[in-house]
Amino acid sequence: MLATVLHAPGDIRCEEVAEPKILKPTDAIIKLSASCICGSDLWPFRGLQPLDGAMHMGHEYCGVVVEVGSAVKTVKPGQFVVGSFCLSDNTCPHCRFGFQSSCEQREFMLGAQAPYARVALADGTLVATDTMPDDDLIPSLLAVSDVLGTGWYAADAARVKPGSTVAVVGDGAVGLMGVLAAKQMGAERIIAMSRHKSRQNLALEYGATDIVSERGDAGVARIRELTGNVGADSVLECVGTNESMHQAINCARPGGSIGFVGVPHGVELNGEYLFFAQRNLLGGPAPVRRFLPHLMDLVLTRKINPGKVFDLTLPLADVAEGYRAMDERRAIKTLLRV
Ligand SMILES: [Zn+2]
Repeated sequence: MLATVLHAPGDIRCEEVAEPKILKPTDAIIKLSASCICGSDLWPFRGLQPLDGAMHMGHEYCGVVVEVGSAVKTVKPGQFVVGSFCLSDNTCPHCRFGFQSSCEQREFMLGAQAPYARVALADGTLVATDTMPDDDLIPSLLAVSDVLGTGWYAADAARVKPGSTVAVVGDGAVGLMGVLAAKQMGAERIIAMSRHKSRQNLALEYGATDIVSERGDAGVARIRELTGNVGADSVLECVGTNESMHQAINCARPGGSIGFVGVPHGVELNGEYLFFAQRNLLGGPAPVRRFLPHLMDLVLTRKINPGKVFDLTLPLADVAEGYRAMDERRAIKTLLRV
């Protein structure tokens, strides 16, 4: 089959690779309905994350089960499934506590920018729908797998409640999903920090009430101004740089909470600064599996439309253009037809 392989920074190719096979009795093989490119795929593409040989890219997926290992009990061939980018057994103490992304058996999904993919720990990882979803829901169901699940976790970790004032740092796909999540959780005021017109518009569509285009200290000052010099109850950090992390912490009110889901690159926090900041911090890879049933239901009943975050659709063969478009910020997120 033809699939996506990153050979070196900037050198991404759609090329012939072996089809995935069942390696363990707990595996499943799925035929993807669609695939996509994640903002985090850009880190190795840009050379900002070391590459350990050729890397089979793609960790967001939904599709139809074609084969299961002998130990798989809860999903069967022919079912439509969505899974998290973190593969988990959903039975260990961390999974049962709702932190499937720290599962004792955790693996990270690989090789999903392809027509077929192997999903380890299938019983714990995959959630099946009752019936085959309509084609127009595929982009939104694909979004649940990572980008929506991650934005949702940012809002959950930042303890967004009905009536909350929320600031969202980052206008990438995850930040926009964070706006959607905060709206669904009943936030009264949602301040999206964005400098790009098209992203501002989508943020407003997803429920943002205010837009702040300033960054860093100027952005923090603007949030203070908008909140009566108090700060936001909840801040979603969806970037992962040193500047964005400090911006997020400084935007929150004392006692407020920051959910940080941007993979940190070069973030350094000073102990004394954290001590006197007096804010709650919870982040990490999103335990998407915890949210999957609820988010799939919101999509299947057409209450939310996270698939709108895909503003570029390409055939898998043109995956390199998809990476370049996101790298150059010409696209928010690229959907790949497989
Ligand atoms: Zn587990």
